[in-house]
Amino acid sequence: MAGGLVTAPGRGVRIGADVIQIFSKQNTRWMGRALEEEEARAFREESARTGMETVAVHCAYLINLASAKEAVRTRSLYALEDEASRAAMLGVPYLVMHPGSSGEDPEDTGEGRISKALRAFGRFPRGLTLLLENTAGQGNSIGRTMEQLRRLIDASGSPPDVAVCLDSAHLFEAGYDISGDEGWEGLLEELTRHALLPLVRIWHLNDSKTTLGSRVDRHSHIGEGHIGLSGFRRIVTHPGFRKLPMLLETPKDGQDEYEKDIRNLATLRNLCAARGGE
Ligand SMILES: [Zn+2]
Repeated sequence: MAGGLVTAPGRGVRIGADVIQIFSKQNTRWMGRALEEEEARAFREESARTGMETVAVHCAYLINLASAKEAVRTRSLYALEDEASRAAMLGVPYLVMHPGSSGEDPEDTGEGRISKALRAFGRFPRGLTLLLENTAGQGNSIGRTMEQLRRLIDASGSPPDVAVCLDSAHLFEAGYDISGDEGWEGLLEELTRHALLPLVRIWHLNDSKTTLGSRVDRHSHIGEGHIGLSGFRRIVTHPGFRKLPMLLETPKDGQDEYEKDIRNLATLRNLCAARGGE
């Protein structure tokens, strides 16, 4: 968001990315000011000029369709509607959302609220798909298991415009040991069992500062956390995933905002090449 939406594609170019993900408004606010068609057009034109494809808009963090407070759920639904229309105006195909947190309430109560909200939402704007992101399970956040994601989608009436975004750090923090072969095979088995494999549309590639199953969400640079390089190699070289857009959400703690992104990207591309890639 810094510098305005129109600067995002150029910053993607600066780090040598193929695709980017953006926030379309301040990620800690309920409602941004309305997106003017002029601003949206400028963004689309800049995307075309630079050739930088924005594959996803990430929803603001306040949205919580599982909240115990009805007022928060209502605001969240309005905010989701706003996010969806902004993403459609910007010409972005995917909207990524954390399903929500049930707080003090049991998880299944939270799941019920999310499904109800998604049913109430109906269809997304044409060309836009909502991606439910798996979570670390922090604070009873829903979506920490593949089974939960499947139940959410089923209970929402399995709309064709709802699919899945997988975050490597969240998987690990939720207890999927993708740092080793056994944990990776276990994840693939669960994805297959719950028919989620074809629904995975995007990966968030982040290493984890916290340990396996911590349920504490802290992202780290690729290869510097507890997942490690071999874990990322499995993801980026898997035949079912290698063609998918993959996005970094790693910390910006370098000399400048680009330094670490450039390095993380190079690390991942080396892993693709190491197995022969394409
Ligand atoms: Zn993520």
